[in-house]
Amino acid sequence: MDKLAIHGGVPVRNKPYPNWPISEEEEKRLLSEVIDSGKWGGSGGSNLAGYEAKLPVFENKFASFQDAGYGVSVVNGTVAITVALQAAGVKPFDEVIMPPYTFIATATAPLMFGAIPVFVDIEEDTMLLDPEKVEGAITPRTKAIIAVHIGGTVADLDRLSAIARKHGIALIEDAAQAVGSQWKGKGVGAIGDIGTFSFQSSKNLTAGEGGMIVTNDRTLADKAWSLCNVGRSRDGAWYQHDTIGWNLRLTEFQAAVLLGQMERLEEQVERRNRNAVLLDQLLKDMEGVRLFKNDNRVTRNGFHLYMFYLEEEFARSFPKSEFMKRLSAEGIPCASGYSSLTNYDAIQKSIEEWTGEKRIQTCPVAERMGDQQVLWITQTVLLGDEEGIYDAARALKKVAQSHHPVM
Ligand SMILES: *Cc1c(COP(=O)(O)O)cnc(C)c1O
Repeated sequence: MDKLAIHGGVPVRNKPYPNWPISEEEEKRLLSEVIDSGKWGGSGGSNLAGYEAKLPVFENKFASFQDAGYGVSVVNGTVAITVALQAAGVKPFDEVIMPPYTFIATATAPLMFGAIPVFVDIEEDTMLLDPEKVEGAITPRTKAIIAVHIGGTVADLDRLSAIARKHGIALIEDAAQAVGSQWKGKGVGAIGDIGTFSFQSSKNLTAGEGGMIVTNDRTLADKAWSLCNVGRSRDGAWYQHDTIGWNLRLTEFQAAVLLGQMERLEEQVERRNRNAVLLDQLLKDMEGVRLFKNDNRVTRNGFHLYMFYLEEEFARSFPKSEFMKRLSAEGIPCASGYSSLTNYDAIQKSIEEWTGEKRIQTCPVAERMGDQQVLWITQTVLLGDEEGIYDAARALKKVAQSHHPVM
């Protein structure tokens, strides 16, 4: 067997995968238009007669891309969730059901104003919120469910919508990782009542920072807009403030970069999908390695991440931290990924501060899968060519087999 790169052997891959972010002349051209226009912010006018501001253009374009009626831009994906919750009527001390296998922002977004995350475990074969377990967690305080489309795959929006409707609570989609993802042929984000996206540096559409709230509900869109615009009303006077809000406006510079990025988005989503299908085929029967279920209602996966996991027994004798080190040394960018949010003292402490009670929450599937089994291959691998996918598969096989003592 080939000697592992980590032990001084030849790495499977020496070539780099594409860098991220990717930008071209389009971004520079649009940015210089913004500079010249003098219309730099999300408020105020231009020095040029007839100049068309870029934020509204981007909001419409992005909302259409996700099949949503309205898009409200916002400074990042974290506050996008806070605003979505507040627009949906969630108040301090209300409970918000969410999966624990997600970026911490899904939980900090409600905690920042005293709404309480209630973690409901995930499905082992998808890493997504388990609809089977949601109803049991609903109490009179529950006001919303956040479905997180982790890695770009989509939570069961049919069942979660039905549960939300039955109990008269809001369904919010945290689609930060799901730009381009589709459920039954329709873009995610506004399939629930309201959804959020992130344009932070690592995300599949980026301006360094940024976010978007999408919905098909005019009232929710107006509330979100008002919360992002110091409580103004869209058709009100400038110093008319009807409610309390922040200034969470994005800049025109970010809109310019995002419009440039959107030129390549469709092609990139398609490329990641083709490469992920190929990688699925190559990894299908690999010893120790398991693939997540492909739900055929997820008609397109945005693939922010390519996730897979180590079989439970295999992972017991081959810790994923070691697996990951060996895979990285073979030239494949990979990550260990999230630990279940039930493991974070900061969250438990914050809940205790707001409620005055200790609430020990455990989610055994998320805790085991997150800490011991799941690995991520970053989207840059999927953005490369086919050869890069064959390399990733060969490296995975080499590492998986390195589990056996050398004969
Ligand atoms: C990135 C991310 C966020 C937060 O977005 P920011 O723009 O970084 O604030 C929220 N939820 C998920 C699932 C994310 O991946």
